[in-house]
Order: sequence, then structure tokens, then C-alpha cells
Amino acid sequence: MSVIVVGSGPTGLMLAGDLAEAGVDVTILERRAEESNLTRAFAVHARSLELLEVRGIADELVEQGFTVPELRASFGTRGFSVDISRLDSRYPYVLMVQQARTEILLRRRVERLGVPIVRGAEVIGLTQDGDGVTLTVRTAEGEHTERADHVVGADGAHSAVRGLIGVPFTGRRYQTHIMIADVRLDNDLPNAVNPFIAADGFALLPPFGDGWFRAVVWDRTREEAPLTEPVTKGELNASLDRLTRGRVRAAEMRWSTRFLSERRQAEHYRVGRVLLAGDAAHVHSPIGGMGMNTGLQDAANLGWKLAAVERGWAPSWLLDSYEAERHPVGRATLRLTDTVTRMVVASGPVRALRPYVVPRLVANERVSRAVLGMMSGIGFSYDLPDTLVGSTGAGERVPDLDLRVDGAPTRLFALMDAVRFTLVDTSPNGAAATAAEPWGERVHAVRAEGALPHGADVLLVRPDGHTAWSGRASGSDDLTRVLTEWAGTAPAIR
Ligand SMILES: Cc1cc2nc3c(=O)[nH]c(=O)nc-3n(C[C@H](O)[C@H](O)[C@H](O)COP(=O)(O)OP(=O)(O)OC[C@H]3O[C@@H](n4cnc5c(N)ncnc54)[C@H](O)[C@@H]3O)c2cc1C
Repeated sequence: MSVIVVGSGPTGLMLAGDLAEAGVDVTILERRAEESNLTRAFAVHARSLELLEVRGIADELVEQGFTVPELRASFGTRGFSVDISRLDSRYPYVLMVQQARTEILLRRRVERLGVPIVRGAEVIGLTQDGDGVTLTVRTAEGEHTERADHVVGADGAHSAVRGLIGVPFTGRRYQTHIMIADVRLDNDLPNAVNPFIAADGFALLPPFGDGWFRAVVWDRTREEAPLTEPVTKGELNASLDRLTRGRVRAAEMRWSTRFLSERRQAEHYRVGRVLLAGDAAHVHSPIGGMGMNTGLQDAANLGWKLAAVERGWAPSWLLDSYEAERHPVGRATLRLTDTVTRMVVASGPVRALRPYVVPRLVANERVSRAVLGMMSGIGFSYDLPDTLVGSTGAGERVPDLDLRVDGAPTRLFALMDAVRFTLVDTSPNGAAATAAEPWGERVHAVRAEGALPHGADVLLVRPDGHTAWSGRASGSDDLTRVLTEWAGTAPAIR
């Protein structure tokens, strides 16, 4: 009973932690011998923070970062702002924090849970049969094989695992190079994401909160610069000067790179006993800062399902629901980031209309709510299989509910963990919590007081925080069926 996770980026670490927490024997294979010192993602969105809270990591991460409650954009002299603070989440902001810090906290969790991280181990071959998967692994000592029941490719955009299972990575490259740098500025900018959108490109300047800013610069006039040419402070400042109309200038630069962004998605997230997650499954433009976040959310969706398979109680449809649920989210994320990217780097008539059209779109409540929901991750719901007992709200993300347990105030997220279902029973006689007892460690049943969504008095929350079922305790026949559908046959009556 074992899983190998290939890659110790944020996706692999989150997933391996969840598997280990569920008691699964899991190992991480990582090609790099050392930690990467590359700063990549800098934005952690509300849904990721909610998931990290359930894993006991959010508070520490928030302490290390800097919260941005507003997204402001300027098209030359015209501008608009989006208020993130109205998100229905306890994290109504974008947390600016370097990816390395998120990874450190996730790594500490897997280390605490005893997961081996084998460094300097590159996966170069894969075969699978009905019983398991065999990987060929190259290390400094040579090549050897490793075998597991399941393998997850969390090995990034150029995933070897994806190639070895023959899954096409469909999409294409953007044509414009992006310059990225960490800079100190001559002048101050507001505590916001700070995009500047100009005729021939854009600059994004989110703060890290410690005096440093991340400059993401998409300059069409520098399109022809070779990717290998280092980004100098002079080049960056020339672009910033033009794109921000002289408002921003880098005084100091500690790191920079030039890269070509792509928009691609794996056609499948599962082939037999091999699954893909994170950048191995989808890559898109860095606008919106959604890459790492989508990977963390993939991991949260997959971990408990794969653990259920490994522990031998997963219903037959459960593992396939990973692709069914997460592929559409990946596709929607690609579409959103692609639309925004095209708008930002648009040419000709679209460019001329942009300063007028975009603020109007953003002012439309429905549009801005939908975009904020996707960007923050809290707006995604899953379509559940038709064969399940349905209920109002099934598949929705559950917000952090205020509850009372034994008279003491608490919150739903404080009751949850990454691997068990949480059944909240607010009915007067606690019949649902009693009915869930045979499922033992798979379902954490809690009698509580408080208002549940959709007027229900019982809520069954999946380990990834989405509603499995909600309804009235009086329909407890349904509840037994629901629990069996989701958590398998109750161990006590096997
Ligand atoms: C410049 C830049 C800025 C970005 N900004 C943001 C942002 O603000 N917000 C955001 O959410 N996202 C952002 N992203 C995207 C984000 O960095 C990625 O989405 C995220 O790192 C993906 O995590 P992952 O774990 O899926 O893959 P990775 O972080 O790429 O990790 C994959 C791991 O697998 C290992 N590996 C690869 N091949 C093998 C192999 N064959 N065998 C063993 N190990 C292997 C690699 O060494 C690596 O450690 C940015 C990306 C870039 C490049």
C-alpha cells in the first residue's frame, strides 16, 4: 500500500502531507539535490489559505506575508479598483508571500509526518500494470527501479511523468516575453497589486511588504530580446518608465529573469494508476497569480480520494472524480487568465477600447464577483455524479461556519482535518451524528449549534471542504445511503 509523489514543489508537498496524515505510506522523489532559491509565486489566495488553515499552516504563513485587500489597475490616466475585502472568506485578501515560504511550511508538515523526501532522484521511466507502477529513477549512484500502487506526477510544467504516460499537454506559448524581477523602488506605491496597463504592455508591481516589490513586466517592444539575455536594471527601468508613465523606477534589483509563458492543459489527469497534479496538469500566464494556488487545490481534492483507495474503502467512482472535478477548474482558470492576458497585451482596436471597456466590466457586479470567485478559488463548485443522492448545495465550497460545540464557540474549519469527512449535526436529538458512528475514523461527526447553509440541520463536508450532502436529520434513511456512497460500507457492519 504505497504512493510515490514525483516532485517536491508546493503541489507534491501538500499532497504527500495529506496522504501521510491519512496513514498512507508515501515517498517523494525530487530531481533537485538542493532547495531551489528561485522566487516564483508570490500570491496566495483565499481558498488556498482556507485549505492551509485546515492543515494548521495558514496562521504562520499569514504572519510571514503581507495582505493586499484591493486590486488597482491603471490604463494611463484611467483606472479602476477591485475590492477583495468583500470576499466571503476569513481571508478576504491576496496574501503576498514568497513561494519558498509556503513550501517551507508544507515541507515541515511532511517531515513531521515522517514522509521521506528523496533528493537527487529523477524519474526517467514508468510502466504500469494491474497491480502497480514501476518507476525508473536516476540518482548520482546510477539507475534503479521503485514500485508503488499509485504514482502522482507533481513534477511541474515539463512533467516527465506526463510524457511517460503519453498524455498530450495541449495549448500554446504566448509570444511576448515576460521580465520578472524583485526590486526596491525609488518611490512608494499603494498596498495593492498595482497593475499599470499601457499601449504596448503592462507592469504589475505587488509588494512583498518588506520594502521589496515583485515587478512583472510584459513589454511588447522587448519581444525580440533573446530569452537567454539577462534582464538588467537599465532595461527594466526603461520598460517601467514607459509602461507606468514615469511613476515607477527600480532603485535596486536582487533577482531577475525573462521567460515565455504558456497556456496548456493535460488532456487527462489520470491514466490507470498514475495521476497528474499542479503544473504537470496545467500552466498558464502568471496574471492573477493562480498557478501555485490551483496546484494546492488539486492536491486537496486528490489527497483524500487517493488515500481512500489506498485504505481500501473508496467507492468505485471516487478516484475518477478527481479529473471530473479538477479538469474543468483547470480549464476555467486557463480561460480566465488567457482572457485577461489577451486584454492586457491586446493590439490594435482592442487596445484602444480597453480603458473604456475594462472598467465597465469590472463595475458589473456579476462579472467582478465571478472573476473574484475564480481568482480567489472560493467560487468553484463541483458537479457531483448524478448517481449519488443529491441535495441542495451538493458540490459547493462550504464557508467557515460559526458554530457552538458543547456551548463553546468554534468554527467549521477548526473542526475539520484534511482526510476525514466532517458531519455537522445541529438537529435537536443528534440522530445524524449517531447514525454516522459506524463510520468511525472516516467521518468526524459533531453535534453543534449554529445555522447551516440552505436551511439544513445536517451537513456532510468532504475533507476538501465541499458539500457532499446537506439536508434534514429526519431523512436519516438518506443519510445512511449518503454515508455509504461517500465513505464506503461502514467498517462495523462489514
Ligand atoms: C515567474 C513565475 C511567477 C509565478 N507567480 C505565481 C503567483 O504569483 N501565484 C501562483 O499561484 N503561481 C505563480 N507561478 C506558478 C507557480 O510557481 C507554479 O504554479 C507552482 O510552482 C507549481 O507547483 P508544482 O508543485 O505543481 O510544480 P513545481 O513547483 O514546478 O515543482 C515540481 C517539482 O518537481 C521536480 N521534478 C521535475 N521533474 C522531475 C523528475 N523527472 N523527477 C523528480 N522530480 C522532478 C522539480 O525539481 C520541482 O521541484 C509563477 C511561476 C513563475 C515561473
